[in-house]
Amino acid sequence: MKIRKIELFELHLPYAGGSYELSGGRIYTGFDSVIVCITADSGTEGWGESTPFGPNYIAAHARGARAGVEEIAPYLIGRDPRDVDRINDAMDEALLGHNHAKSALDLACWDLFGKSVGLPVYRLLGGATGNRLPAISSIYAGTPEDMRARVAEHRAMGYMGHSIKVGAMDSEGGPALDAERIAASLADRQPGEYFIVDANGGLIPETALRMLRALPDGLDFVLEAPCATWRETLSLRQRCDVPIILDELAQEDGDIAKLVALDVADGIGLKISKAGGLTHARRHRDICRAAGLTISVQDTVGSTLSAASIFHMGATVPERLLRCVLDPRDMVTIQTGAFDAPIENGGVLPPDAPGLGVTMNRDLLGQAVAIWED
Ligand SMILES: [Mg+2]
Repeated sequence: MKIRKIELFELHLPYAGGSYELSGGRIYTGFDSVIVCITADSGTEGWGESTPFGPNYIAAHARGARAGVEEIAPYLIGRDPRDVDRINDAMDEALLGHNHAKSALDLACWDLFGKSVGLPVYRLLGGATGNRLPAISSIYAGTPEDMRARVAEHRAMGYMGHSIKVGAMDSEGGPALDAERIAASLADRQPGEYFIVDANGGLIPETALRMLRALPDGLDFVLEAPCATWRETLSLRQRCDVPIILDELAQEDGDIAKLVALDVADGIGLKISKAGGLTHARRHRDICRAAGLTISVQDTVGSTLSAASIFHMGATVPERLLRCVLDPRDMVTIQTGAFDAPIENGGVLPPDAPGLGVTMNRDLLGQAVAIWED
């Protein structure tokens, strides 16, 4: 099998909840999505997506992802998409870094790989556990009572995990407001529910410690991405007894190795496009398993292809390590393809269809913005 053609598309995905607020005054109303279609010499199409969470979440933005695809695509024509590690080596030779650009191409290769052998991607990644993957909600920062109400709404929809966004600046209410947000969001906690308090790097050790000290005792949650730097996170780690999860700091393979070496955290938010695609995500999963770290399989945001990549990877994580998966379809108003994976009974299963299992709607994408062919 050889790569014959690569098409690049751009698509705007409006945020389903109006406007999304993160620490540091970051507000998002929609997301630019980068979608690629790789056609093999057999005529089979493989699809991939990368949707950065705006330009100021991590060092990734949609225009950069498209420019990255333009740098890399000519180097992939004629290669075998099933050799996913070799494809990633070739991408690294063409362009250093820029995981968010490589992710879309990597996903499309896995989709082709699965279709070429008639198997779902989860089987190529090691096989599914068969467990329903508990879905996590994304509760953007707001007033404590508003956040409590949105947790209740998502609970009613079957979500078993909730990601509570905090990181108020002192002028907004600071650590005291964040503590109230956490207490309110956890107030109606049900058995089996899992709560992540996610600051998206918006705290420093001083504000994080103040927030934790302002909380009532006995609340069951983990603290995700409290601080923006390794030094701050390690300092906080040594002075608090709440489990810490890394997200924005854990991107490259080397970051996961460093996390283990320094014992900075107890788990990671494994976002597919942040890692650079399923090939790197597979490696991160295996390092975490070897080190006894929990994994929440997510993506920065995205639509149907992003959801599919999350569910196929999530299905291969052992139950005792898998905390939750993100269903990004919930976050945007546009679904880019047909995909049979409803949230039922508190979770979701990846479909058995070959590849990622998504039937894309080409009409929605319009004209390709760039095409490479042999
Ligand atoms: Mg996070």
